[in-house]
Amino acid sequence: KMEMRIKRRHRRSARKLRRLRMMKLKDAKNQVAIITGAGSGIGLESSLLFAQEGATVVLADINLGAADAAAALIAKRTPNAKTMVFKTDVSSEKDIKAAVDATVERFGRLDIMFNNAGIMHPQDDNAVTTEENIWDLTMNINVKGVWWGCKYAILAMRKNPTDESLGLRTGGSIINVASFVALMGAATPQLAYTASKGAVLAMTRELAMVHAREGIRLNSLCPGPLKTPLLMDFLNTPEKRDRRMVHIPMGRFGEAIEQAQAAVFLGSDESSYITGTDFKVDGGISSCYVTPL
Ligand code: NAD
Repeated sequence: KMEMRIKRRHRRSARKLRRLRMMKLKDAKNQVAIITGAGSGIGLESSLLFAQEGATVVLADINLGAADAAAALIAKRTPNAKTMVFKTDVSSEKDIKAAVDATVERFGRLDIMFNNAGIMHPQDDNAVTTEENIWDLTMNINVKGVWWGCKYAILAMRKNPTDESLGLRTGGSIINVASFVALMGAATPQLAYTASKGAVLAMTRELAMVHAREGIRLNSLCPGPLKTPLLMDFLNTPEKRDRRMVHIPMGRFGEAIEQAQAAVFLGSDESSYITGTDFKVDGGISSCYVTPL
């Protein structure tokens, strides 16, 4: 009986949550979002969710095939959604500028920039063994790529016309993906990756202050360890997975969709008073000393 009651309560709250979530981007109808790294993992789930919530989605990825496949999946799940695919290497200023320019030219504005693309190189290791070229590659994509994304998004968002009849706002929301490893040390080092994510936090915080009075909000998203190709390709043995799992309070890796839900929140006006945060979606890992048995 007890079990039935818990199940019923769970169903009720799940229904309520779904209703809430459907309302979340109601203000984002006709809003335009660019998502970098849209072909896989967090970017893919976010592209699907933003489209489902009514936003126009520009899928930017260095892997054009993956971005095309993501757009096809959106077309299947949300047939009315407006999308555009753009081959973009985020470490190239020219590519980011072209993606933002094409977005504004085609859809008239840019409201949400999700700087999500990032790499974790298999040869990224400790201070002694990491090669300089691995460090530079990681910094170029994970840090410089986020800078370019912020720069061209800010320039575009400054020009957003306000359309009262559509309820569209000025300014915009920029979400930069960092990581929980920017907040805590790990004895399984990936030095360049960790340093790059720390830089994302610091850069985002500063830009949030600089552009606060322009109505442009900037936040970092700090995912915990996730079941996406980025981490799972690397944790390719049970030993490697177990080494991490013991430190996760919830006893499971996160799902990309759980990051997408946070990105939708940070992108929408529901987070209108949130800027400059290190927004953690990490299953509690960064608050943990001892995990439950
Ligand atoms: P993923 O590897 O599943 O997907 C990354 C996507 O980015 C791919 O489609 C890839 O083609 C694209 N990409 C790679 N380099 C690019 C470039 N130079 N320009 C444009 N696109 C490029 O990764 P994911 O797990 O979804 O990770 C997304 C972000 O989340 C990354 O910034 C990552 O560092 C961060 N993150 C991931 C985890 C995790 O456990 N997976 C944890 C914390 C933070």
